Amino acid sequence: MSLLVFLEQHEQAFSPGSLGVLTKAAALDTDVAAVLVGNEELEPLAREAGRYGATTVFTAVDASASPLPGPRIDILAELVRRFPNFDTILFSNSVLAADVAAGLAARLDAGINWDLVDLEFRDGQPLGKQPMLQESELAEVGWRSPQRIALFRAGSFEAVPAATEHEPMVESLTVAFAAHTLAARVIERTLRVDEGPSLADADVIVAGGIGLGSAEGFELAEELAAVLGGTVGATRAAVYKGWYSASAQVGQTGKTVSPKLYVALGISGAVQHKVGMQSSKMIVAINKDPHAPIFEFSDLVVVGDVHTIVPELVELLRKHAG
Ligand SMILES: Cc1cc2nc3c(=O)[nH]c(=O)nc-3n(C[C@H](O)[C@H](O)[C@H](O)COP(=O)(O)OP(=O)(O)OC[C@H]3O[C@@H](n4cnc5c(N)ncnc54)[C@H](O)[C@@H]3O)c2cc1C
Repeated sequence: MSLLVFLEQHEQAFSPGSLGVLTKAAALDTDVAAVLVGNEELEPLAREAGRYGATTVFTAVDASASPLPGPRIDILAELVRRFPNFDTILFSNSVLAADVAAGLAARLDAGINWDLVDLEFRDGQPLGKQPMLQESELAEVGWRSPQRIALFRAGSFEAVPAATEHEPMVESLTVAFAAHTLAARVIERTLRVDEGPSLADADVIVAGGIGLGSAEGFELAEELAAVLGGTVGATRAAVYKGWYSASAQVGQTGKTVSPKLYVALGISGAVQHKVGMQSSKMIVAINKDPHAPIFEFSDLVVVGDVHTIVPELVELLRKHAG
């Protein structure tokens, strides 16, 4: 059994998630290989990967200006063809990594387990841990295929450099890309610029959760934020439903905020949300459930329907503006 870690890098900086996966792999096996792809000088990054436990780092050039999944799939597939002992390939989830892992699984006819948060070996076999039942349980998942692919949630493992430095063996690979791979190119990249104060700087945050009911329901949060001169936050559950932008997510896997006023609309108050906002100076929660956990750490609680209370509140605040 041999572990191979896909190291994602952008403009000569590793994504912290993939270094975390490398740290984990090195804790499981003393002989871990990693693969690095890019259009620039990769040797310094490969050496850095050695600090996180890679004993061998394969580097390969992808001449395209922006990272695309295709060349990475070709490179990994070729690597596994040349070294079939790499039977367990690990990724930290990202938009790019998910595409590469899925494409590689198809190419190798390999089993893929995704959304994993941990990995261990039992009786010589890898076993992934996957949250299920709304995150309340951890399922153990295995692979039936000889080649296995694991995609971990970003942030599952901390990237920790080894106490003792060792130089990895760096091997550069030349891979002939498939014609369809070369046909794809990035036409344009745009950066989304959020309006209003950033979550980190906002004095007032109006955050919405599942209780808002829909993406349109977030207009209530926006209206209240506008009248209070604040910005909008969201729970992960609402973000996952596509109701609001991921950049607005507050909590363990989102942003940590401490505004003067945090208004929580239809948010239950799960611990993963609480850790991101509990240091707010004043927390006001509106929830129709009188037993909602968020009430336990709120300064002002309002039991009721957000769809009734928020429009009235907005009107009242507008009347008294200034
Ligand atoms: C590893 C991990 C990381 C996570 N990271 C985060 C994170 O960073 N941020 C985060 O937020 N979550 C995170 N979560 C998810 C978290 O556990 C909760 O699932 C999530 O916070 C719940 O979001 P919610 O409060 O919007 O939804 P729910 O828990 O479904 O709560 C909805 C609430 O709305 C109320 N409600 C419903 N209708 C109305 C109405 N009309 N009027 C008023 N109230 C109403 C309900 O009574 C309920 O209390 C994470 C989970 C895990 C396992």
